[in-house]
Amino acid sequence: MAMETGQNTPPAGGAKPAAALAEGALQPPPPGRKYLLERVDDAAVAQVYVDGFEALPLDQKVLIWHLYQAALAGRDIFYDQRYAHNLEMRDVLEEIVTHAEGIPAGTLAEILRYTKLFWLNTGPYNNLTARKFVLKCSPAAFAEAAAIASRNGARLPARPGESLEDMLARMQPLFFDPAVDPIVTNKTPGPGKDILAASAGNLYVDITMADLGNFEERYSLNSRLVKRDGALVEEVCRVGGRYDREIREIVRHLEAAVPYATESMAAALKALIAFYRTGEAADREAYDIAWVADRESPVDTINGFVEVYMDPRGHKGAWEALVYYVNREKTEGIQRLAAAAQWFEDRMPWAPEYRKQGVTGITATAIDVVVEAGDSGPVTPVGINLPNDQTIREVYGSKSVLLTNIIEAYDRSTAPEFRREFAWTDDEAARAERWSSVAGELTTNMHEVIGHGSGRISERLRGNPQAVLKEQYSALEESRADLVALYFLPEPKLVELGLVAAEDHDDIVLAEYEAYARNALAQLRRVREGTQIEEDHMRNRQMIVGWLMANSRAIDVRRRDGKTYYVMVDAREFRAGAGRLLAEVQRIKAEGDYEAARALFETYGVHFDPRLRDEVVERVDRLNMPSYTGFVQPRLEAVHGADGRVTDVRVSYPLDLTTQMLEYAGR
Ligand SMILES: [Zn+2]
Repeated sequence: MAMETGQNTPPAGGAKPAAALAEGALQPPPPGRKYLLERVDDAAVAQVYVDGFEALPLDQKVLIWHLYQAALAGRDIFYDQRYAHNLEMRDVLEEIVTHAEGIPAGTLAEILRYTKLFWLNTGPYNNLTARKFVLKCSPAAFAEAAAIASRNGARLPARPGESLEDMLARMQPLFFDPAVDPIVTNKTPGPGKDILAASAGNLYVDITMADLGNFEERYSLNSRLVKRDGALVEEVCRVGGRYDREIREIVRHLEAAVPYATESMAAALKALIAFYRTGEAADREAYDIAWVADRESPVDTINGFVEVYMDPRGHKGAWEALVYYVNREKTEGIQRLAAAAQWFEDRMPWAPEYRKQGVTGITATAIDVVVEAGDSGPVTPVGINLPNDQTIREVYGSKSVLLTNIIEAYDRSTAPEFRREFAWTDDEAARAERWSSVAGELTTNMHEVIGHGSGRISERLRGNPQAVLKEQYSALEESRADLVALYFLPEPKLVELGLVAAEDHDDIVLAEYEAYARNALAQLRRVREGTQIEEDHMRNRQMIVGWLMANSRAIDVRRRDGKTYYVMVDAREFRAGAGRLLAEVQRIKAEGDYEAARALFETYGVHFDPRLRDEVVERVDRLNMPSYTGFVQPRLEAVHGADGRVTDVRVSYPLDLTTQMLEYAGR
């Protein structure tokens, strides 16, 4: 499966010091370079850099230029998918902030705070908690600001015949009422409640799970499902269908990119264009196959309806786009791991019948990302493994990428004292300081390269465990990949592969296990409302630590000076426990044991003590520690020659979220 969210990689939100970066790491950045740009509530905003871009050959730069435009062309699709009112709300906000002269300072500051969070989260739902956040000024103050902006020339999106006052009254609940459409994705709405009705996303309109009955979706991934005259209708995302305007633009830029691509990448781009035209599953499969087959190209893109985390059913893909080029130095180390995939598969701690023979097609590439849009930006994953189609994965393999320049920006934008807060001893804090970067990078690589690609499942499931594991699938699969990494981390094979030095290995294992335990506590800061965890990666990590606490002697819960600590006390126990749990998680996936998956997460992964969360939040707030980071992307600009051809592509860094968001929106 899919993606690791960036905010989970630095254990306990800790930054990784430059000194601890693995060999072959990027050179230190120029002195005085700015990473952390600003803080907005519990979000940090950081700038991403693409240091290798200048050195790329012109044809690759031009290719990236066209793909970059294709990425930005689809940006509004995800806005609309995430919430039906998103684009209209964004229009109001952006028109106000660009016509702000004369708005009282206090009101404007609050509107800007809200607008920045809106941009970072692509709408009014926190990307970690799925819960709605609201404007904290009064509706009257907001109306006054809108009126001033209107007099300044703002074009607010009133409907025909609707006055400004009427428009604001209509939209007031959207901006101000946390009880209206409170959760974007609600997989556990409580007994008797429906997951579709309880979720505010725009993937289903007036439909409940009961309505679905035996309805067979033809466009399961790339459609919105609506009820029309009592019948279910799939609105297909494709040229001539839903998002026609955006998809036509994407296709236009993809077509412009084709002549600059390698042969194998051109084949993939053409297949993607065909899929955007027809929307048919067979064309999506052809594209997935062509995309996986393109393993050597120095530039690559992901552009389409990909991850299914936002859909409470886990079927419909959220639109996203990324454009990136290969980071050669870091890629070599990862490829040594990939080449050894069968060695690890043969030693998986699960039943032999679930071991895969002839593990092929696992590739892992360290990349620098140039642009991310839709579901992957401004908040971004640090690792991606695609395609998600299990049948294609089993036959053709998958591709994994590690977003190294995102990880770098992440690390360098986080203040160093944060990692010490949840460490029980000075030794633990020092280990984190010294090794968290290496350990984090290594386990992320193992998660992607030997984790997600591993294991066989029962023939009975026909390559589709999602169908039976339903809303539990994503978190279960993330657990499986994490556990593979944790289980094999102490393995001497990693020294043999040159991935860690023998003398450092024990410290790296300790640093990672300690960080993993700490993170289950520290991550509670991201769920400021309610008493349950919705995000799949967070559920996975909570479940693993909770299970280890209950079923091994690896982790102690200790208290000191009114503070709670999750202390990893026995690395051998930790590893043995991870192995036992991994065997069970693989069994659940392989057999499609829905009840066991549900019980595992309900017991250990979903619920938490709100008093503990409040304590963590208080500790974190005292340190002014961000819960997540959004990234400002590099900006590309084409230089055209007299004949209109692109003669160069220049990169610059906006260093400001507002500037970039307004430019993306064409303002
Ligand atoms: Zn994953």
